[in-house]
Amino acid sequence: MSNDPRSYETFLRERREAILARIADAARRAGREPGEVEAIAVSKTVDADAALLAMRAGWRLFGENRPQELGRKLEALQGSPEAAGVSFDMIGNLQKNKINQVIGRVRLIHSISSGHLAEAVSTRCEARGIVADVLLETNVSGERSKSGFSPDELRASVEGILELPGISVRGLMTMAPAGDADAARRTFSGLRDLAEELRLRTGLPLRTLSCGMSDDFEIAVEEGSTLVRLGRCVFDRGYDLA
Ligand SMILES: *Cc1c(COP(=O)(O)O)cnc(C)c1O
Repeated sequence: MSNDPRSYETFLRERREAILARIADAARRAGREPGEVEAIAVSKTVDADAALLAMRAGWRLFGENRPQELGRKLEALQGSPEAAGVSFDMIGNLQKNKINQVIGRVRLIHSISSGHLAEAVSTRCEARGIVADVLLETNVSGERSKSGFSPDELRASVEGILELPGISVRGLMTMAPAGDADAARRTFSGLRDLAEELRLRTGLPLRTLSCGMSDDFEIAVEEGSTLVRLGRCVFDRGYDLA
């Protein structure tokens, strides 16, 4: 990162505009409205000062993957005028003993990766008298390294999860295999088709499809993503927005 905060802010601003233009183009290519797609700036690798500059550059939604770092950022940003109206999402693996550090502090939890975790989050939200908006993380590509429900597990358990009183399921989330554009496209279209199937079965809108990262967000938008999670391409000057 640069030592010159002003020019880093300029980089962040220009990069944001370039990213939003690409999202809009990808949406139009797919016959979608650019306004259907939100982008979150994944600030997990940068400090609170850089996140603050990103807020000045126009970003309003942020993502963190560790409860502890989420807490640190929220504390550091408390009271900053730039942070007014900004919200954070939890996008990373959530351990049961960290649930209380996250609920009530984030707009959306993307990473409900099992029925047990769904139940645990629901129970803790109920105890606090809140309802958490969540996404069900789905391992569409079937890679062993990825967490989340398999599509069949989700088909089998979705109805029970939707009945949990402490969570409100807004949609699905997935991660694509790295470095393979065709596999990424199949993963994203698979997520879209699975959400459609579950919509028909449950009658719930399940509107949010969280998919697409720096290397594959345009493909994700072409395949129906409503929420792209962007880290390196937002914050890293060395990242080449190809
Ligand atoms: C880090 C991370 C991202 C952002 O990845 P980039 O490739 O840096 O854009 C998105 N989603 C999750 C779950 C992540 O952990």
